[in-house]
Order: sequence, then structure tokens, then C-alpha cells
Amino acid sequence: MSMDFLKSLYYEFLSHFVCEKIQYKIEGKCNQCGECCRQIRSHGMKNEKDLKIMQFFLPHYKRFFIKGKDEDGNLILSCIYLDENGKCKVYNKRPDLCKNYPAKIINFNGIMPEGCGYKIIKKDFKDYL
Ligand code: SF4
Ligand code: SF4
Repeated sequence: MSMDFLKSLYYEFLSHFVCEKIQYKIEGKCNQCGECCRQIRSHGMKNEKDLKIMQFFLPHYKRFFIKGKDEDGNLILSCIYLDENGKCKVYNKRPDLCKNYPAKIINFNGIMPEGCGYKIIKKDFKDYL
């Protein structure tokens, strides 16, 4: 198990307890393309074992399966509840992780899927002053 993965697990837990800690400014709106459910970028999860550990600690991750890897070897996941039209089959029961996407309080590196209607603007230190 890599240090990156342990950090990622730690931050995932932490994100449930920290109050609003804005790292990004988010503009735009969702055009319901479904890409964020089709290609979910992970950070620090490198293999199936890492995903299984995440699923053990956070059962809502059980809906995700491995679709591929990014250029840094991080897993790209997809969701079993995404239908062929890019819609969520369990929309009313989707987890907070999905309801809050794109969340400002977790570190997702500010990378949005291609075609996403949202634009992420990283804030500088001076923006907090
Ligand atoms: S990728 Fe962006 S625009 Fe597409 S469904 Fe997800 S949040 Fe909405
Ligand atoms: S549960 Fe629904 S909203 Fe969440 S990733 Fe799966 S398809 Fe997308």
C-alpha cells in the first residue's frame, strides 16, 4: 500500500469532518453529460487492492469499478448505476459524494472531465486575504 493511497484515504475521511475549506472557485453549471460518473479520477489509488480497502472503509465506493488508469497510474473508476443515457439509476439515493460534486472541500486536483459544464478556478493565497 503506497503512502499516496494512505494519504488519499486519510483526506477522504477528513473531508467528512472539516467545515467549508474552499480551495477552488467553481463557475458554470452541469449539462448532465454523465462524464463525472463515467470517468471518476482517483488520487493515490493505484490498483484493485487499494480500491477494495477503500470499499471496506467507505461502503458507498462499492458502486465503483476500475475503468483504467491516468498518466500517473491513478485508477479511473466508473459507476455501476450509470445508465446508457448517462443518467443515474439511483439519483434520489445517490451518496453525498455525488450530491456534492464538484466539491470544494476535497482535493480532486481541480481536474474536471472533458466536456464538463463547470470550470474550476484555483484560488491564490492572496484570494484568502
Ligand atoms: S461532467 Fe460536469 S457537466 Fe457532466 S454530468 Fe458531471 S458535473 Fe455535470
Ligand atoms: S451513484 Fe449515480 S451520481 Fe453517483 S457516481 Fe453513480 S451514477 Fe453517478
